[in-house]
Amino acid sequence: MADKRDYYEVLGVDKSASPDEIKKAYRKLAKKYHPDLNPDDKEGAEAKFKEVTEAYEVLSDPGKKQQYDQFGHAAFDQTAGGGYGGGYGGFGGFDDVSDIFSSFFGGGFGRGSQNPNAPRRGRDITQNIDLSFEEACFGTEREITVNHLEKCDQCGGSGAAHGTSPTTCPTCHGTGQVKTVQRTPLGNFQSVRTCDTCGGKGTIIKEPCSACGGRGSVRRGKKVRVKIPAGIDNGQQVYVRGEGDAGTNGGANGDMILSIRVRSHKLFVRQGYDILCDYPISFVQATLGSEIQVPTIDGMVSYNVPEGTQTGTVFRLKGKGVQKLNSSQRGDQYVTIKIEIPKGLSEHQKSILRQFDENVDPSKYKQRKSFFEKLKDYFNN
Ligand SMILES: [Zn+2]
Ligand SMILES: [Zn+2]
Repeated sequence: MADKRDYYEVLGVDKSASPDEIKKAYRKLAKKYHPDLNPDDKEGAEAKFKEVTEAYEVLSDPGKKQQYDQFGHAAFDQTAGGGYGGGYGGFGGFDDVSDIFSSFFGGGFGRGSQNPNAPRRGRDITQNIDLSFEEACFGTEREITVNHLEKCDQCGGSGAAHGTSPTTCPTCHGTGQVKTVQRTPLGNFQSVRTCDTCGGKGTIIKEPCSACGGRGSVRRGKKVRVKIPAGIDNGQQVYVRGEGDAGTNGGANGDMILSIRVRSHKLFVRQGYDILCDYPISFVQATLGSEIQVPTIDGMVSYNVPEGTQTGTVFRLKGKGVQKLNSSQRGDQYVTIKIEIPKGLSEHQKSILRQFDENVDPSKYKQRKSFFEKLKDYFNN
């Protein structure tokens, strides 16, 4: 999917475009490319139409837009075969699309909530995924079972038994509406209501499909291989296109949304793409300097702690952090030196230390020297 065009470019809008501007741009392009309005180049138009619809679907949803701004296409294209859901008619998934379409199809689509034949996008399905610290750093592949609604393959989604098809509703003759005339002393009043027999669809199923009971879809557990990108972090989401519930009336499938939870690590703490850790050394190592072996997510790295290192000193291991999403760059690792003071020393050891202390020139302790000078000033003023 490396050749996928930038969604902003597809819609011809700026990154800073307002929701209104995005909607306007989509409306214009959807009309331009709708296959029914391009009888000379139905296929070419359909491809363009899907492209702009996909871009709009992401950029019009604040959550998905944020994911896209952060991770680019990698936020969504996780499965090998994962593309935009649905065949022709993959449009119309989301609520305001029927609005947009009614404006140039003479209300044929009506409002999504009212017209039972309007294309409707399937539901998104959210699942939690637990990753180890390393899996989040390096990325991984998981086989996930998603329990979603699929179009029934016995009836192709029509809901009618094999070999039959839905028939025109005898009550409303396919219009989905029934007119009733009320005679009153003031004259005849005609009212129109939704047909009860077919629920407004205009068709009825005489013999329901045995596999789906006439619903046109069945709930099934499907195994999906998902690539979790390197650099993902706790609380982020991975979208798997089209693996949510199937859409109806040609609407797009919903998405499977993986909510990432990263387990904490025994040694490391992650901060963005940087990794933090503490490293305890003895006061002798700190005083004399010492070569230490520091754990990183790539293995051990040796580091020379210089002579006279203070506690709390932080050193950086460049490029030993987490790989950035959508990039080959990596963060850094920051190691904080903690000087540990030994406890429970023997009398002999203590006497060596006392002897040592008596022989150290006080000027070797810079912080103490400066502190006591300030203290003296303080009491003298
Ligand atoms: Zn009817
Ligand atoms: Zn069926």
